[in-house]
Amino acid sequence: MIKKELIKKLRVEPGTKVRLKDYETGWAQTKNLKEAGKEQVKERSKEILTENQALLAEAQQVLYADDRYSLLIVLQAMDAAGKDGTIKHVMSGVNPQGCQVFAFKKPSAEDLDHNFLWRYMRCLPERGRIGIFNRSYYEDVLVVKVHPELLQRQLPDGKRGKSFWAARYDDINSFERHLVRNGTIILKFFLHVAKDEQKKRFLERLDRSEKNWKFSAADLAEREFWDDYQDAYENAITATSTDWAPWYIIPADDKWATRTLVADIVTRTLQGLDLEFPEVTDEQRQILAEARRKLESE
Ligand code: AMP
Ligand code: MG
Repeated sequence: MIKKELIKKLRVEPGTKVRLKDYETGWAQTKNLKEAGKEQVKERSKEILTENQALLAEAQQVLYADDRYSLLIVLQAMDAAGKDGTIKHVMSGVNPQGCQVFAFKKPSAEDLDHNFLWRYMRCLPERGRIGIFNRSYYEDVLVVKVHPELLQRQLPDGKRGKSFWAARYDDINSFERHLVRNGTIILKFFLHVAKDEQKKRFLERLDRSEKNWKFSAADLAEREFWDDYQDAYENAITATSTDWAPWYIIPADDKWATRTLVADIVTRTLQGLDLEFPEVTDEQRQILAEARRKLESE
């Protein structure tokens, strides 16, 4: 497992005013890591990921059998920060039946005819499952805040100032609190990538034919709003990192580091729950014994 002090560093304590510039995007997050050097940290990181994949698969089985909790993982990031790859690597050992992934794109006409949380509510993980939101209701205080014209057709006219967004953060906090009170555990990850690294990854998508399909001119257009997005993220994370649904700011310039950190936090969280295989009652034990007799006497 990853050292606790590092996990603590990435976790945004409620009430912290987040400035993303204060958070590093690279692997060298602590003095100890820096001293060890990149190659060693990378190698160890990959081992930890493999260990966690096995532990997570086990923990997920008990989550399923226990059937009291669900786990919601929210992934948010700028384009090319590695959301898809993180999901693929973190969940690769988990039984697909216990896991649900939803990627949210531009809302449909039907979505827009409802309150902004509606389309996400319909995709929440069932008890016993892990649900992953690849983008989420946070888009409604991110892309929609950066492009407020998206709201024009959605809502009655009115002010779209600070108090409008404060009300949305408030709605999100209440929504998440409601979920937590009903047995959902919520983990939120912001994959924090540097602007230069995004450029490098976009260029790779242009240079390598097998990556061409991932390039979208729209992503390049959004890059022009980089600073607005960073502001929107800072405000959203500041307002919505709560005791019941904390944010983690995960360095995303090195994909191996991102994956290991996310896997570690997810695994730790499940291991921290009081999960148990359901107890067999005396009555059930009798039924099992009866079934054995029947089979053996065939
Ligand atoms: P991708 O994840 O690259 O497939 O892109 C999905 C696109 O859908 C992104 O440009 C998001 O900003 C956009 N999107 C996701 N949720 C919303 C939303 N609630 N309102 C407007 N655009 C959204
Ligand atoms: Mg994209």
